[in-house]
Amino acid sequence: MPVTPLFRDDFYLSTAEGTVTAVHDDGSIELDQTCFYATSGGQPGDSGFLERADGSRIELGVTTNGADKSIILHRPLDGQARPEIGEKLVLHIDWARRYKLMRMHTACHILSVVCQFPITGAAVGEDESRVDFDMSETIDKDEVTAKMMEIVAANHPIYLQWITDEELAANPGIVKSKNVRPPIGLGRVSLVCIGENAAIDSQPCGGTHVSETQEVGEIHIAKIEKKGKENRRFRIKFGKPEA
Ligand SMILES: [Zn+2]
Repeated sequence: MPVTPLFRDDFYLSTAEGTVTAVHDDGSIELDQTCFYATSGGQPGDSGFLERADGSRIELGVTTNGADKSIILHRPLDGQARPEIGEKLVLHIDWARRYKLMRMHTACHILSVVCQFPITGAAVGEDESRVDFDMSETIDKDEVTAKMMEIVAANHPIYLQWITDEELAANPGIVKSKNVRPPIGLGRVSLVCIGENAAIDSQPCGGTHVSETQEVGEIHIAKIEKKGKENRRFRIKFGKPEA
């Protein structure tokens, strides 16, 4: 059953109520609405738990999509209770983990502003993220870190702007990813904008992000690896660069 994705309109929604609409043979649970983000676009899905009326918990692993993006599967860990269809639950995201993923995901956008080459891949993690660029240039990681931290410190606003699939098709230049398709097919696409009037950046993306660049906090490029002649892999970590 199609789900109402509450995280679309509020990245900071850490709890919500939902009603069970399906329980699959493998135990995965569908709800009428959810604040759980499902793995996509390089960002891992949320984990957390579902709280039943008696206060007991159904602990969840990483949330994924079903056959398409309109289906979100909440995945109980082994040995968890099975809820009933129609049962009302309170949904709790592992917020500490999700917030780190939001900060890291936003850091990836900031890196793409500093390093303006086509992106060939990206993976957001709680402790480390990586972004691959189609580039042959050698670039100093400390210089990249300094430019990223300038954008963080300037505390630019980050917000979504919605455009239609047709508008996106008419402006292919705004897509920085070479291999990752923007989140089209739902009739509208969210552009993640950084800075007043998107002065710093705008990029189609369906993930979750913080609302001001300062929230990203201290980050640095830990490593730039050469992956083939025209591919460079940047690894982003939290904290100050190691001396
Ligand atoms: Zn994004």
